[in-house]
Amino acid sequence: MSKKVLVLGETREGALRNVSFEAIAAAKKVSDGGEVVGVLIGDSVTDFGAELINNGADRVVVVEHPHLKSYTSDGYGQAFMAVVEEENPDGIVFGHTAVGKDLSPKIASKLKSGLISDVTDIDGEGDDAVFIRPIYSGKAFEKVKMKDGLLFFTIRPNNITPLEREERSGDVSSLSVDITNLRTIVQNVVRKSAEGVDLSEAKVIVAGGRGVKSSEGFEPLQQLADLLGGAVGASRGACDADYCDYSLQIGQTGKVVTPDLYIAAGISGAIQHLAGMSNSKVIVAINKDPEANIFKVADYGIVGDLFEVIPLLTEEFKKVMQ
Ligand code: FAD
Repeated sequence: MSKKVLVLGETREGALRNVSFEAIAAAKKVSDGGEVVGVLIGDSVTDFGAELINNGADRVVVVEHPHLKSYTSDGYGQAFMAVVEEENPDGIVFGHTAVGKDLSPKIASKLKSGLISDVTDIDGEGDDAVFIRPIYSGKAFEKVKMKDGLLFFTIRPNNITPLEREERSGDVSSLSVDITNLRTIVQNVVRKSAEGVDLSEAKVIVAGGRGVKSSEGFEPLQQLADLLGGAVGASRGACDADYCDYSLQIGQTGKVVTPDLYIAAGISGAIQHLAGMSNSKVIVAINKDPEANIFKVADYGIVGDLFEVIPLLTEEFKKVMQ
């Protein structure tokens, strides 16, 4: 049965997040030739509508309001529910991002629907679609199928390939929503670190653990990450030791990442760390201890001192990238 599927288009710092395009591809897969409708919520976000269409949305609905400039679950909840009432969709797809993780259960409970969260792959199409998601901190995967009712799921960033971008045409319409009775209004957002590549969307991550030994120890990792156009991440061990900020933490209680290349330096590979990175496409581990657990998930293992290996890797990458 063909379906109308709503996709939340997420923006950050004046650009659409890539996960929005991945969500459109996922929506197309389950829509069975139906309609994929992008939803943009914010202050001045209409201009992003054309880009959602170029990436495969059939049309876009925009809800704009000054109180929607920054995310609040209250404000976005009201806006998204208004779109749902207007569109009466058969399916909804969000990114499994900070916004998606916060908003999806709220919307699912309001709609009394099920929710399949953190989907990393979809087997089959349309009504036959089976959703694959990690469980037990990534130690196993389960396959889930929605029996009936609204098909609502969130997708983990960097796992589903977006459709080919091409110039497409489609309607971008606005829906007027009276955003009322907000319990919180964000006045101002002060960013801690505004520079560099976003960790959760980085294609290359160079992550350091307690083996890095100090905040200065992270400098060679940053140089390698910069050279590869990537981001620096960390284990909780490194964050707890105050070598870096908690915003860099990867793992069960940190960020979940799936880059093309994950270089783990001085990280032992505790299960809680693996929960955040074991789905990376290629894992390179550098550790002095040949028995370190990280080698069990690594595609390439280098037994050695990271302070020797990282500069050597950087030099070699420089040669091939010239
Ligand atoms: P260690 O385990 O101390 O490992 C350091 C490694 O560096 C060692 O293997 C050592 O051989 C190597 N090393 C030392 N010097 C060098 C050198 N010069 N060159 C090369 N290698 C070297 N952890 C996370 O990472 N993310 C989470 O989200 C997270 N959530 C948690 C949630 C809970 C509820 C709990 C209980 C724990 C959580 N942890 C998490 C902590 C986790 O259990 C580990 O303690 C932590 O991951 C260890 O960090 P580490 O690997 O950097 O440090």
